[in-house]
Amino acid sequence: MSTATPQKFEFQAEISQLLDIVTHSLYTEKEIFIRELVSNAADALEKLRHTQLTEKEIFDDRLTLEINVTTDDKAKTITIQDFGIGMTRAELVENLGTIAHSGSKAFLKSLAEGDQKNTNLIGQFGVGFYSAFMVAKTVKVYSHSWRAAEPGHVWTSTGSGSYEIEESDGQRRGAKIVIELKDDCADFSQDWKVKEILERYSAFVSFPINLNGKHVNAIQALWLRNKNEIKDEEYTAFYKFQAHAFDEPRLRLHFSADAPLSINALLFVPKENTEKLGFSRLEQSVALYCRKVLIDAKPKNLLPEWLRFLKGVVDSEDLPLNISRETMQDKALIEKLSKVITKRFLKFLEDEAKNRPDAYAEFYTEFGIFLKEGAAMDFTHKDSIVKLLRFESSLTEKGKTTSLADYVSRMTGDHREIYYLVGPNRAAIQSGPYLEAFKARNLEVLFCYEAVDEYVMNNVREFDGKKLAAADHADVKLSELPKPEGALSDADVATLTKWMKDTLDARVSEVKASDRLVDSPVLALNADKFISPHMRRMMKAMNKDGSDTPLRVNLEINPRHAVVKRLFETHASSPEKAKLVAEQLLDNALISAGLLDDATAMVARINKLLESV
Ligand code: ADP
Repeated sequence: MSTATPQKFEFQAEISQLLDIVTHSLYTEKEIFIRELVSNAADALEKLRHTQLTEKEIFDDRLTLEINVTTDDKAKTITIQDFGIGMTRAELVENLGTIAHSGSKAFLKSLAEGDQKNTNLIGQFGVGFYSAFMVAKTVKVYSHSWRAAEPGHVWTSTGSGSYEIEESDGQRRGAKIVIELKDDCADFSQDWKVKEILERYSAFVSFPINLNGKHVNAIQALWLRNKNEIKDEEYTAFYKFQAHAFDEPRLRLHFSADAPLSINALLFVPKENTEKLGFSRLEQSVALYCRKVLIDAKPKNLLPEWLRFLKGVVDSEDLPLNISRETMQDKALIEKLSKVITKRFLKFLEDEAKNRPDAYAEFYTEFGIFLKEGAAMDFTHKDSIVKLLRFESSLTEKGKTTSLADYVSRMTGDHREIYYLVGPNRAAIQSGPYLEAFKARNLEVLFCYEAVDEYVMNNVREFDGKKLAAADHADVKLSELPKPEGALSDADVATLTKWMKDTLDARVSEVKASDRLVDSPVLALNADKFISPHMRRMMKAMNKDGSDTPLRVNLEINPRHAVVKRLFETHASSPEKAKLVAEQLLDNALISAGLLDDATAMVARINKLLESV
């Protein structure tokens, strides 16, 4: 559609909402709009560079790939121009009229979730192009696409509900954003002020930036420099720039390799795991370069999925320069790169764990969940990842952890499996009935507190040739302990267990004397091989099918416990009351296992029992 007269468009509702917040925001660091527009300009140049690889006919092909910023303090304007890919009319509508930017989306989402007034978040999310409206009376975007056949256009808006697009002759390729500043933002039309901001934010932009004709940025490929010559501050500044981050990096790995591939890599682990804070799933964002030229800022297959928390840069000379983002996916080379980098990073973590155990423990608290994901899903690196897992155990202090290797080093005698228990926290596991049998036999048990642990343990299956075994599973066989004094005889146990099985009937699959119990009278063991107690709790929480199926457990009784002995004495003489006691014992065991679904029947029963006291 070609129109010579201006055409008016309404912004998509979300954009209007965003603009309303941005234009009225009292956010103090308004200068970030410069960072956002410069980074859009750099993206547009980067895209042009890629387009040049495959397209022969490019409009204005002789322009240098650079960014020109100009200020006019009389007219109170600032202009940011790039000779990048530009936008056609349809692209102006699509890109600047509808919400595409993930930062803007996340920003709106967090506002919807209650941070209504917290416009301070603007800086954190980076609302991209729209941040211009924090300082602008009007924004004009002059643009000519790289496609020669398309005319140039100017897009104009005051940020209130609508924008206009008009054809405009004589435009160079790329985009020129002219901002007429609000009176209280007129500072941004001062050369010195903008210079200071550009120096702060744009040191690592990989295209020349000129301010009023003067070159302001030194282009640096920090990752190619010798690491002995790089200061911590430089690394941090680079991390903030490259990852659009606001925190300091927690860990850093800068390495180069020559074989089997030539690689220079600079990887960062952020301070915080934002997925844990409830933000959306992270996207892979270690950028891929070939000799300082960006190939892809967010390559999907460069690293395994579980390393999506990493930031940084990988540069390999071995990539063909004209590799395109599209063809990259099926290149065996990328797989090779992926393996080399992942291995190197895992080795780095192993060294950290050895040399700086406290820092590693902090890293693990924050990012351990990703290692667990890797251990369960990444078959290629599973063995190395499992070594990095840490758990509290029955032998560690609260808050201290052990590795599986250390656990194995403490195994003695006929201790052949690695035992673990899943529970909400240390106190719950320690006071439950499952641990005591292991304690009595001096067997260490790992404590797992996270919802995914069970899945992870099931997938990992074994370590160093030792099976991982859930300590509350009926399959786990424990050695005989010497029979303590005063236990019921084997014949009495046989009578009592038979009577209990008949009495409890459908609620139990088996009742037997326990080789596990020391202090507790009874214990419920998971008879279902496929649905563990923990999984059942999760399924219930998520309302999954199958969570309502009647539950059957294996009940184990402690022939030395006073309650059990008393039950044996009374089961024949006062069967009514004994039945109540047996049912109550079963419910007690289910409570400990976190398996009692409905306590109403139990309350009625307890009241009945209390009557007879
Ligand atoms: P983001 O850059 O994160 O996608 P923005 O809201 O800043 O989000 O920009 C929206 C879209 O507008 C960009 O994805 C891009 O397609 C387009 N765009 C913005 N600035 C430019 C520019 N200088 N040249 C070409 N396209 C641009």
